[in-house]
Amino acid sequence: DSNGVAAAPRRKVAIVGAGLVGSLAALNFAQMGNEVDLYEYREDIRKAELVQGRSINLALSQRGRKALAAVGLEEKVLATAIPMRGRMLHNVRGRTSIVLYDPCTKQCLYSVGRKQLNELLLNACDAFPNISCHFEHKLATANIAEGQMQFRRPNEPQLISASADLIVGCDGAFSTLRQQLVRTPGFNYSQEYISTGYLELCIPAKDGEFQMPPNYLHIWPRDSFMMIALPNQDKSFTVTLSMPFELFAELKTHQQLLDFFRQHYVDALPLIGEQQLIKDFFKTRPQHLLSVKCKPYHFADKALILGDAAHAMVPYYGQGMNAGMEDLTLLSSILSQQLPLDVALAQFTESRWRDAYAICDLAMYNYVEMRDLTKRWSFRCRKWLDTTLFRLFPRRWVPLYNSVSFSSMPYSQCIANRQWQDKLLGRLMTFTLLASLIAGGAIYARRLR
Ligand code: FAD
Repeated sequence: DSNGVAAAPRRKVAIVGAGLVGSLAALNFAQMGNEVDLYEYREDIRKAELVQGRSINLALSQRGRKALAAVGLEEKVLATAIPMRGRMLHNVRGRTSIVLYDPCTKQCLYSVGRKQLNELLLNACDAFPNISCHFEHKLATANIAEGQMQFRRPNEPQLISASADLIVGCDGAFSTLRQQLVRTPGFNYSQEYISTGYLELCIPAKDGEFQMPPNYLHIWPRDSFMMIALPNQDKSFTVTLSMPFELFAELKTHQQLLDFFRQHYVDALPLIGEQQLIKDFFKTRPQHLLSVKCKPYHFADKALILGDAAHAMVPYYGQGMNAGMEDLTLLSSILSQQLPLDVALAQFTESRWRDAYAICDLAMYNYVEMRDLTKRWSFRCRKWLDTTLFRLFPRRWVPLYNSVSFSSMPYSQCIANRQWQDKLLGRLMTFTLLASLIAGGAIYARRLR
């Protein structure tokens, strides 16, 4: 250009999947001046009456916010999001207690509607002349080496062909593009289903108001199972019941279901309403949860997978979308260096896989923390200690949850950070124990004398 800076080559980029990560990816590639085709299996959700799919609302945190800010959408999203300052724990008797996420710097999570967020991203795509959206286009097959794709359209027997310089798979946990990558030599892949399923229920608004305090993520931890609730803009709560499939299977009759709720979720039952609970519970089957680890995320300079397609995780850290959006923060910063594309994509894989594996592991860990540990005395003690140390040394002592949710510290470093904290606390405990033993012994010896 006139400043002597070489402009990035304009490429034809096909993005498969217009979910939360795909539509954000389209914005990022378009901002860089590429010609973007965004292909989505479903119809345009902005026109759909009923949108089928997972979780109605999600917790947005630092990493997602940062990625949204990069395309100028953070403020717009936060304007309608509901801040959640901490966990509100409900015990079996219905008593509640609050554990703030961040009493020191007062950061919070934000509950956002999946549909609203996706619509906002798609609207932003419409504003770019170099993004073309193709709804009701389901990727059927792809020849990634050739940059060729074939799409199936509803009620059309013929497949539609398209081509691109780069194909980006943002087509979720069961990614079709990833299936093509699985066949390439050197591609590592593993998946794990957990034995827990989930089902969504609703606590409706009452007289136009929330039935519980809205600015918390509500948790009913019950050892091997749990329930959580996030607030919606219409003053309802989306409730997610997570438990082992065997337990779901034991609840066969209306009476069994009501008895189960009376025993374990006595305070939530009247808020959901008995009839509504019966209706919603038996309407759908519990959904499966999957964790996916794979690498590399790219094939030469031809294909790339992002978001759940690259690293689906169980939803218990509220990081799936956030991590998927963070993929784009990293990718954009690498692409801005204007390296050859195959080198840039290889650098993306290399800089990302450890962190993606780490957050998949952390999400598994947090499932245990949420359903079980949160109600333990030792957990609260550690939380108190972490908060106190964080307050005293805000730069040196960042607790695990804060580093994951309220910072952009690489996920693998969040784990390493927690490990040295554990080690230090362990040493301190041993030291304190030894010191008290010695002191006790000395006092005892003096008395004897
Ligand atoms: P998806 O959202 O799965 O989008 C994929 C898109 O690709 C879809 O639109 C789909 O229709 C389309 N598609 C699929 N196949 C094809 C094809 N062959 N051709 C064309 N299009 C295709 N994350 C958080 O950060 N915070 C949370 O609080 C949170 N809560 C969650 C709660 C639950 C119960 C679950 C299940 C997940 C939760 N997540 C959360 C994770 C989050 O939902 C995902 O990480 C996020 O949706 C990933 O976005 P994505 O765009 O990669 O994939």
